[in-house]
Amino acid sequence: MTVGSLLRRAWRQSVARLLLILCGAAALGLLLGAFWPLLALAAFAILAWHYWRLHRLLSQLYQRRRLRDIDGRGLWDDLEMLLHRRQNEGRARVKRLLGLVRGYRRAAALMPDAVLLVDRESGRIDWCNRQARALLGLDAHAPGAVGTVFPGNAVQGWFAAGQSDEPLIDQPSPIDPNVRLSLRLLPYSPEQWLLVVRDVTKLLRLEQLRRDFVANVSHELRTPLTVVHGYLDILDTEDYPELEPMLTEMRKQSARMSQLVEDLLTLSRLEAQEALAQREVVAMAPLLATLRREAEALSAGRHRIRVLDEARVDLLGSTRELHSAFSNLVSNAVRYTPVDGSIEVRFERSPDGGAVLSVQDSGYGIPAQHLPRLTERFYRVSTSRARETGGTGLGLSIVKHVLNLHQARLEITSEVGKGSRFACVFGPEAVAEGLPEAGGEA
Ligand code: ADP
Repeated sequence: MTVGSLLRRAWRQSVARLLLILCGAAALGLLLGAFWPLLALAAFAILAWHYWRLHRLLSQLYQRRRLRDIDGRGLWDDLEMLLHRRQNEGRARVKRLLGLVRGYRRAAALMPDAVLLVDRESGRIDWCNRQARALLGLDAHAPGAVGTVFPGNAVQGWFAAGQSDEPLIDQPSPIDPNVRLSLRLLPYSPEQWLLVVRDVTKLLRLEQLRRDFVANVSHELRTPLTVVHGYLDILDTEDYPELEPMLTEMRKQSARMSQLVEDLLTLSRLEAQEALAQREVVAMAPLLATLRREAEALSAGRHRIRVLDEARVDLLGSTRELHSAFSNLVSNAVRYTPVDGSIEVRFERSPDGGAVLSVQDSGYGIPAQHLPRLTERFYRVSTSRARETGGTGLGLSIVKHVLNLHQARLEITSEVGKGSRFACVFGPEAVAEGLPEAGGEA
């Protein structure tokens, strides 16, 4: 039966019952000679019955009791039946949702990582899985708050900033500082974070092993390479004209190997530092003059080179590292720009009070798909061209590490056939203020 016909049937039954009772009372009243009193009595009885049904229904609802599943014989029965269905549907939905929540919790509990549900505002831990208890020593019934579990400022600052896109790596476990953890925040709901904590001790140990290995091998290669280099320098091609092409190639290759070893050692040194040991004032005017000399020496008159100092401020950081980064960019610009191209090194202020050192060239340019991977070690757009120009594939990696240490970033824009621009963007805190501001060519 459709809803409409069910409703019509209920109304019909109710009205028929009402009329039957009223007519019965009226007939009896006429018979007994008390028409109005009996009609009024019947009306009152009907009203009382309705109130009684209403009262019964309300008290059942107030007491959250299950309503009866009755086959409708009137409006009240239908109302109860419909409410009973609603109750059943509600219960089924709650049951399904509970099942889902339990399922999620079971899945979270089975995860090999520690998982914590944390209140975004207060940092209170609302729930945690078994691994969280084992890894962080939490009490299942009173897990506490993020601030008490990780008393260090690093975690608290990171949590307060809600940095869900940047995991916090290499934090000591609160129960054993030798266990190193990585922390990641996932937006669970508008009120809660899902904090996933992973034991990365082994991973970090392997990473350290790799770094030590590369540093040691590079270090060990340095001495034999210096010896080979030395002997090659002693050998005069005039004495052995027949060996000239061979000696030239050997010198070129040994110079490349030395550069590779030096770059690897630089990278190892940079990786070993978490922050700059000390920040000195990096005098930019002489540094820019040095960059100009280096570019001119490398270009040997094959390019137009301009160095502009529009910022006329100094930076704060490490002169040695910044020089290494900037000269890598300049060297790339010279090496990847064909003869007669132009190269411009510009040092300028940025609107936020920081400074930008950019190296722009009119060279080959880089296809867009390579840009995101350019700062990876040994990543090259064109291996043959890089080899031709004597690159090691580590230059931009070094630049990225140096800039990271200075809380600066590298911005790369490039168009194939038109040229590239590599910009080192420094924040206001990296600028040493107090120097006269004026524009001009360095
Ligand atoms: P490499 O020592 O090979 O130059 P880098 O790390 O310095 O290594 O650069 C990585 C790759 O990026 C290079 O091999 C080259 O393909 C590309 N590249 C870097 N700078 C430029 C530039 N100014 N113009 C075009 N391509 C560049």
